[in-house]
Parts: sequence; C-alpha cells; structure tokens
Amino acid sequence: MNNVRVRFAPSPTGALHIGGLRTALYNYLYARGNGGSFVLRIEDTDQKRYVAGAEAYIRESLEWAGITPDEGPEIGGNYGPYRQSERRDIYRKYTQHLVDSGHAYYAFDTEAELDQRREAEKAAGNHNFRYDASTRGDMRNGISLSKEETEKLVADGTPYVVRLRVDPGQMIHIQDIVRGDVAFRSEEVDDKVLMKADGLPTYHLANVVDDHLMEISHVIRGEEWLPSTALHVLLYRAFGWEKTMPAFAHLPLLLKPNGKGKLSKRDGQALGFPVFPLDWEGGEEKLDGFREAGFLPQAMINFLAFLGWNPGTEQEIFTLSELVEAFDLDRINKSGAQYDFEKAKWYNQQYLISTPDGELAPAVVEVFAAHGQKIDPEKASLIAGLLKERVHTLPEFYTQGRYFTERVGITDEKMARKKWKPAQRPVFEQLRQRLAEVTDWNATDIKSATVAFMEDTGLGFGAVLPVLRLAVSGTTNGPDAFAILATIGQEETLERLSQGFDAMDLL
Ligand code: GLU
Repeated sequence: MNNVRVRFAPSPTGALHIGGLRTALYNYLYARGNGGSFVLRIEDTDQKRYVAGAEAYIRESLEWAGITPDEGPEIGGNYGPYRQSERRDIYRKYTQHLVDSGHAYYAFDTEAELDQRREAEKAAGNHNFRYDASTRGDMRNGISLSKEETEKLVADGTPYVVRLRVDPGQMIHIQDIVRGDVAFRSEEVDDKVLMKADGLPTYHLANVVDDHLMEISHVIRGEEWLPSTALHVLLYRAFGWEKTMPAFAHLPLLLKPNGKGKLSKRDGQALGFPVFPLDWEGGEEKLDGFREAGFLPQAMINFLAFLGWNPGTEQEIFTLSELVEAFDLDRINKSGAQYDFEKAKWYNQQYLISTPDGELAPAVVEVFAAHGQKIDPEKASLIAGLLKERVHTLPEFYTQGRYFTERVGITDEKMARKKWKPAQRPVFEQLRQRLAEVTDWNATDIKSATVAFMEDTGLGFGAVLPVLRLAVSGTTNGPDAFAILATIGQEETLERLSQGFDAMDLL
C-alpha cells in the first residue's frame, strides 16, 4: 500500500499505560511493514488534565521500547507542529470554516444554565439531557438567536463554545478493519463542543483536523474510541473530507488477568506487576514500570505484540524486525486480550537465555550495584551465564545470586542438618586442603580435585556436593557447584568453607 501514514496520539495526562504502548507498537509495526511513516502527535489541548513530565515520559518509553517515530515533537517533519497546543490558529481557522458553512454554531449557555436545564430535565424524569437537534432550539446559541443577536454577543466578548450541528436522520457506517461494518445513527451523536470557551479545541476537532492535515491513512487506536468515530465521520463530512478519511482499526481492550474487566493501573498495584513501561512518580502516585522491574525491552515488545494479535503460526518469539515482517492489521483479534503477567516473565526469560552473557553483564553489574555490591564485567558475565536459565527478570540475578558477592551464611538450615555430620569434619578439612592446592582455579580443575578426594575417601557426589554448596552459598540449589566456586575465587572459597563448617557444627 502506498503512502501509509499512521500516528500515535497520546494525551500527556500522566504515565503511558501499557495499552497505550501497544497502540504505539501496532502503529509502528504497520508503518514499518508498509514502507510508511510513524508520527508522534501530542494531544495536549486539555489544560485541566495536562501533567508536566508526561510528554517526556512518553518519548522516553518509546525510545526504550525501540519504537521510534519518524516525525514528532523534537524530531520535526513536514507536517508539524506536532504538539496540538502549538496549532491553535489552525483549529481556529477550521472551526470558523464550519461556522461559516453552517455546520457549527456558537453556543453561549453558561455552565449554570446547562446545569439548570439538566436539573429540570431530571425532575421531569429525563436523566440524559443532550444538547442536540431536539433541544438546541430552546438554548442560547447561534441557531436559536438571530444573526444580529449572535454577532452582538460575540462582539461584546460573551464567552462561547462552538458546537457541531448534527442533523438527525443520517446513517454513519464505519468499515473498521478489525470489527467490520459498524453503524451509528446521527441521533446517537449530540452537538459536541468543538471549541471550548478558552479558545482551545476539544479532542474531537483537533484530532480530525490533524489526521486530515497530516495525511493520516490509518487510524489505529484503542476500542474505547470507537463511539467517538461516529462523530469524527460527521466532522469529516462537514469539512467535505469524507472521501479521503483515514481507514479505522480499533484495537481490543486489555483485560485483567482473570479476564473480568479492563486492565487498570490499580490492577498493577494490587496484583504486584507493572502495567507501565517505566516507573512513574507524580504527586502521590508511584507506578511500577517494566524497565525497573528488570525486563528487556525486546521481551516486553514481544509480549505486547501478542496481546491482541497473533501470527497464525506456532511461533512465539519474534524480534522487532520479525514482528514488522509478520504483523498485519487483518490478524488483530476482536475480543479483549487477557493480561497474563506470567507470560511476560516467560518472554523475558527466553530473551535472557538468548542474549549473550557479555551483553547481559552491564545490566547485572547495575543490579548488584543497586545493592551496594561492586562487580567487574567479567564476573557479571559469569553470573549471567550461570543464572540466566533460572531467573525471569534482571533483579533476580541478585536475589538468586547474592552469594556470588556476599557471605550469606547457611540459609537452608534444614538441609544443612541433614547433610552435615560433625564427625565428618576432619574428612571435609581434607577436601578444603585439596582445594587449597589447586593451582589453576577453574571449574574443571576444581572438579578434578574434588573427584580425587571422593575416590580417596569413598564418598559420593550426593554426600560431598551438598556440603560444598551449603558452606559456600548457604543452600543446595543453584547452578553447577564447581562453576560457583570458580566464580567466587579460591581464597574466598577456602574461607567460606571454614566458616561454613563452623556454622554447620553449631546447628
Ligand atoms: N489523544 C487520544 C488518546 O489519548 C488519542 C486517541 C486517538 O488515537 O484518536 O488516546
């Protein structure tokens, strides 16, 4: 397809929810897979909901995830500015067009008047007062008032909003790529405010004007925007742009892990997993992010890609470029996608396993540093190699591998009581001596020395290895015991053996 132009259009009202990141990802994949452009547009015209730092958070999240826009604020492009707050004049001009052509009108009703009307309707048993063709005639606006009256009110500086004039009796059909034909009647749409009293456009007007001016070919966004699309189509009609209107694809909801209801930010807090890409701290709010929880961005992306889409094959692991190849809007599911955090962890583990140890080393250095432990990249690389099949997230390299840098004592006392017989201490001192004599401290030579000791004493692996492990790492679990010893170092191993034997004697 030619000239594919898609956009991700978040409002900077707080941290970017993981569902928003999925929207960005699908837009990105579609653009890349079709030789198109991926535009970032910041929809910041709602001053009441504007949150400082949110735009920077969004950009950092995209960057971390590797979903880089081709155009956007800070990047530029031929269709800018890309922040709606910098496009006020454009919206004013287009709103004026609609007023002049009779598709929109000024409305002077104050909040108090609207409330009063709502109350009166309620008293009469109507709980859904709507400003539309059936009611606009008795409100204060450019349709109910004469032209002169309207002009005078405007000239006097009376605050007003601009509303879309929605005529009843129209059918609105949307050929949604995911959902097929979706139909609305224009009676379902009220005379929405397009321009607020503060002179800023509402989301609907700005969104439609920008999608048109930015030549957006496909609008790929969350399902919660589907009802608004009816209004958007009416706006395209009013502007005379219906023929070049973008195609729509509304993405399925992300559901709670139990499948009951929409995944909310509170679910993350309540169930103890991230539903945001990065940590966020704003006011009272502290939200957990995938990055800080120790996820690799590729793993999170792979996980997200499958929340609402599947390739139709058994393959589950896809790099970003493989996703670009495989992704298509036709394979997006209609039904909601259950957020299964165990699956996210599984993905992360797969990516940890397939990442070379040396590449994981810097992250492992950082994880240990967060606990005040300084390790060099070589050691970090060894730890990465030994533990990566056993962990799901980066912080677990420390929680499962603390003993690589610290003397943790006997953590599994029950096992120590079972495996350690104080009477055997002299025999194990011999093992310690053998290890002290190893000249080249590597796993193979450590193993040979241990095997020689077992042959001399007649003890088997089942008797010797648990004791070695307990004394050095406090538990009998873990990766290859000889590799652990090699990583810890000879001097440290010998000291830990003495201390460990002492500690087990006292149990
Ligand atoms: N600003 C809207 C949002 O925050 C954009 C919706 C759309 O993509 O049209 O999600």
